[in-house]
Amino acid sequence: MYLKFDGLTITKHNTVMDESTTVSSLKNAVKKFCDDRDWGQFHGLKDLAIGTSTEANELLELFRFKTDSEIIQKMNDPVFKARVEQELSDVLFFVLRISQMNNLDLTQAFIHKMQSNSEKYPVETARSSNKKYNE
Ligand SMILES: [Mg+2]
Repeated sequence: MYLKFDGLTITKHNTVMDESTTVSSLKNAVKKFCDDRDWGQFHGLKDLAIGTSTEANELLELFRFKTDSEIIQKMNDPVFKARVEQELSDVLFFVLRISQMNNLDLTQAFIHKMQSNSEKYPVETARSSNKKYNE
């Protein structure tokens, strides 16, 4: 079985697709999607950052005025879960587009950031703690 959209064709096995899809293939698919629509002219860094924030807020909106237990319960509803997936995908689209248009190595940046987080939050002091590293 294949899943397709524009420049991206991924073979869907009976596994989690995240395990077999590269960041690069997603960036290439986003590039083709935008190039086909001549959207590069609208995709300055400021506007893409605004898009990232806007979509993140659409994700937040799904949870507004709901308790933690209500959210946990709602995540068992396939329709609600699909809406969460859609908003996360919207955020991911902008993250991929920013990194693609600005030649940012997202994987390298993520690894560097996680290394920094590991230093800020060593397991010995951060385990089971919700304190910020400088508190
Ligand atoms: Mg959205």
